[in-house]
Amino acid sequence: MKLKPLYIYLLAFIVLLSLEQCRQKDKVRNGKLKVITTTGMIYDAVINIAGDRVDAQALMGPGVDPHLYKATQGDLKKLQDADLIFYNGLHLEGKMGDVFEKLGRIKPVKAISTEIPDSLFRASELYPGTYDPHIWFDVSLWKQAVTRVHKELVISDPENKNIYDLNSESYLKSLDSLHEAVKLSIHSIPDSQRLLITAHDAFGYFGEAYGIEVNGLQGISTLSEPGLKDVADLVDLINSKKIKAVFIETSVSKKAINAVVEGCRKKGHDVHIGGSLYSDAMGPFGSFEGTYIGMVHTNAQTIVNALK
Ligand SMILES: [Zn+2]
Repeated sequence: MKLKPLYIYLLAFIVLLSLEQCRQKDKVRNGKLKVITTTGMIYDAVINIAGDRVDAQALMGPGVDPHLYKATQGDLKKLQDADLIFYNGLHLEGKMGDVFEKLGRIKPVKAISTEIPDSLFRASELYPGTYDPHIWFDVSLWKQAVTRVHKELVISDPENKNIYDLNSESYLKSLDSLHEAVKLSIHSIPDSQRLLITAHDAFGYFGEAYGIEVNGLQGISTLSEPGLKDVADLVDLINSKKIKAVFIETSVSKKAINAVVEGCRKKGHDVHIGGSLYSDAMGPFGSFEGTYIGMVHTNAQTIVNALK
């Protein structure tokens, strides 16, 4: 058999190589931007702005506590494959800092809180020099986080800028309505009953924005366990104000708040569990509570129904 000249093999190789390159380019052009978020609240902002233009996923599902969350092997793979990563910041995802720092050297990893002026944050009483991370509970503050998400989506995916601009504008208007609705509904609670007692101090921004005093048993992170004195102090406060209800949270253990209820009953004041609030995680995917608007709205209703 006569051997073909070398250049024919070379030519075939070059053709195959360029075909493969075209295929790769098509994949990038047709493929959606892969966006990974930590919390469901950030995921919801991405979906409201980008819809199915992106392939988005949240690492932390319903009932998951972000303060204690550690990235699994599966999460690390998702984060490595992502084109754009959003997290809350302000130490909410306290155990994921190293992961974000490493990935931030090779791809956009954005904390949605970084462009909000420090003056709008609540200082942490527990950890001096840091801020309360639960910014989603003041809807007007969360709007700034949503604006950041919008900006970063446009930078990473400029082809879809027009649709992102339109969706963002309309979503921000819905958030304006939500903010006003929550304010009205909390104001319907009599002044003397306007005290929100929860397992951990997630609702500080909520209290300031909507006019209700807030007292959390566990501080702004779930990392520290409440002591007996914390429970006793809260029992005294509830008794003195004759508060009707306290609340449990979907992402935090009920144990501590049950101790408060028991303590009040022993002192002759019958306080009941007013319901379960969505604090650091939203409700099940696909439900109303599984959206940011649904979560905030449902919380406000639960609080009003129990304290009014
Ligand atoms: Zn929290």
